[in-house]
Amino acid sequence: MLELNTIPTEEINGKVIIVRVDLNVPVDSNGKITDDTRIRSSLPTIKYLTNHGGKIIIISHFGRPEPCFDSEGNQCKEINELHRLPNEIVDTYSANGITAKKLNYCIGDIVTKAISNMINGELIILENVRFYTGECLNEESFAQKLANSADIFVMDAFGTSHRKHASTLGIQNFVKTCVTGFLMEKEIYYLNLVCHANTKPLAAIIGGSKISTKLRVIKSLMNKCNKIFIGGGMANTFLKAKGFDVGSSLVENNMLDEVKEIEDAAQNSNVELLLPIDVVISKSYSNDSDHRIINVGDSCDEWMILDIGPKTVELYKEKFTDCKTIIWNGPMGVFELDNFSLGTKEIAYNLSERASNDVTVIVGGGDSVSAVNKYNIADKITHISTGGGAMLEYLS
Ligand code: ADP
Ligand code: MG
Repeated sequence: MLELNTIPTEEINGKVIIVRVDLNVPVDSNGKITDDTRIRSSLPTIKYLTNHGGKIIIISHFGRPEPCFDSEGNQCKEINELHRLPNEIVDTYSANGITAKKLNYCIGDIVTKAISNMINGELIILENVRFYTGECLNEESFAQKLANSADIFVMDAFGTSHRKHASTLGIQNFVKTCVTGFLMEKEIYYLNLVCHANTKPLAAIIGGSKISTKLRVIKSLMNKCNKIFIGGGMANTFLKAKGFDVGSSLVENNMLDEVKEIEDAAQNSNVELLLPIDVVISKSYSNDSDHRIINVGDSCDEWMILDIGPKTVELYKEKFTDCKTIIWNGPMGVFELDNFSLGTKEIAYNLSERASNDVTVIVGGGDSVSAVNKYNIADKITHISTGGGAMLEYLS
């Protein structure tokens, strides 16, 4: 793929340009955006294109909804309102001087007509592309409809660039000029620095709740990393595989064998794989619920593990000491709830100190970046990546 600035600016003027961005922002239980890093990160490309008179169509996914439209655009299921792209996105673009409007569809007459009525420098945001069955299946006919006779396709969704979907990959067969945007270029630049600089010992901290997707990547990180720290929901599956009681914690039972393989692989490749030694358990997924700290191995009483414990925090901090590079994806606990935020907060503060002392610290993932912003340490981190899975996959 070409880079965006290889297109002469005069060729942008008046052209219909589809930009695939990653607006998969974290939201609270009321659907309000809790961290707009991904929207703001998409601004340089969007502003550049609108300033040069392009007619910009934005495509993004938002969460993982069940599709409700077939690839022809016929509605086949009730729309899950929670998965509509938040209207606040329009506000963020508007606040940056861009004339933006949102449509409820990605393909069909309404979209085609809206595009034909656009003036130069205007921006249209299409609805969540994962509402369509053809997106994740990378269906050719859907990709072609999405392309909607655009002149240029700009890929700037780093966070989802590891997925072979219609709006990331398939669409490129139907648009003549395809380029990467400024965010993609920036991400790749920084991640390459990590890959090629004097980076060892290199550590990865992996947590969060997207267990199966991340497990695959841990395997391939094995060749790169010297230490892998496991936390968050991810840790529960590892602990269960070792025969520890995890009560009613989030676990992916079909991944237990996989986890054992990872542990064997770590041993064979001399990678230090660290698991929590103590955890915070809670009666329910709530800040008002009873909670206490137990050592791993003690009974969970059917409660759920929602954070790593203080001894684990100390252990992990000590093990970071000789690391030159630390990559972090996935919170250590349910940091959105104060009672289970200590692990994530302590690790975040520790990493920010290390980053100030010449350790390369890279943090990626929607929720991880949201945590970094919540604890006000973003400016200390070497590179904040808008991708979680994408970042890990690129590095591996
Ligand atoms: P990222 O977006 O950084 O890649 P994920 O999406 O994989 O991270 O996971 C983030 C989510 O994981 C957070 O919303 C957090 O509440 C949740 N989480 C962390 N630890 C646990 C746990 N022990 N049990 C359940 N959920 C957890
Ligand atoms: Mg997430």
